[in-house]
Amino acid sequence: AKNGGRNRYSFFERQMDEALRLRKVVEDDLRAAILADELQLHYQPQYKANGEEIVGVEALVRWPHPQHGWISPQQFIAIAEERGLIIPLGEWVLRKACEDAKRWPGLRIAVNVSPIQFRQRDFVSSVMNIIEEADIDPTRVELEVTEGVVMDDADAAEEAMMELRARGVRLALDDFGTGYSSLIYLRRFAFDKIKIDRSFLESMETTGESAILVHSVVHLGRALGLTVTAEGVETSEQHRFLQALGCHELQGYLFSKPVPAHEIDKMLGIAPDE
Ligand code: C2E
Ligand code: CA
Ligand code: CA
Ligand code: CA
Repeated sequence: AKNGGRNRYSFFERQMDEALRLRKVVEDDLRAAILADELQLHYQPQYKANGEEIVGVEALVRWPHPQHGWISPQQFIAIAEERGLIIPLGEWVLRKACEDAKRWPGLRIAVNVSPIQFRQRDFVSSVMNIIEEADIDPTRVELEVTEGVVMDDADAAEEAMMELRARGVRLALDDFGTGYSSLIYLRRFAFDKIKIDRSFLESMETTGESAILVHSVVHLGRALGLTVTAEGVETSEQHRFLQALGCHELQGYLFSKPVPAHEIDKMLGIAPDE
């Protein structure tokens, strides 16, 4: 009976062990990985509604761990936030993305920003310094933030956002529709764009309600003068539906997964430099 009991729990225990082991790997190695330039950026193209013309790319961080293989951002961003590592990580991501973006004139470069970065007193000057050092036009840079940004200190967030926009940096509200009071945020804060969360698209084909929601969100965004992007587009049915609704931009596996910078070069017909 003792043995049976142990076996019944062993699967769960193994999963716990796995999660704890991974957490420990991240805690032990992330700081050094950032300093040693071990992280990488992949880029997912963003297309006009026709699905043909690339208008921008979203930078997504990747960590190829020398011993443990690829660790996904879902597994390490939260720990980086807890440990204060999101600040150096976020600066590394923005710097690298701006450098890479110089090879892609005319394309927008979207970078994800954690609420914790946004909360830093010197966030705006840190962003502007990196953009100036890279010597790219600030209007090409788009910061993707979630509702969390405005949750605890709305006044400070509003000020930082106004300042960034005054300097030409664009702001997108990411994962739109997954939070609590998105509509209020849209009215108050200076966003250029909303990104409709892919959870809406996932259920769109099976239930009529989701299709109605997507329809409403696209029209709302357009009515407010915002650019509307749908993320997680996986099927041509979704593409046709979103295009017909008047969604401005699309991103998803149907068009391209996130890929290394040299793959973006190829898509744009840029010859490799070495
Ligand atoms: P996100 O910003 O919502 O990014 C979209 C995620 O959906 C990415 O996952 C992307 O690879 C994935 N995706 C794109 N198209 C499709 C699709 O058609 N189908 C499906 N199923 N998935 C799709 P990824 O790269 O694993 O990133 C996960 C999250 O980690 C991001 O969600 C973002 O919140 C965070 N993250 C990634 N890079 C950074 C970063 O540099 N800084 C910060 N603060 N967060 C980051
Ligand atoms: Ca994003
Ligand atoms: Ca998103
Ligand atoms: Ca997300």
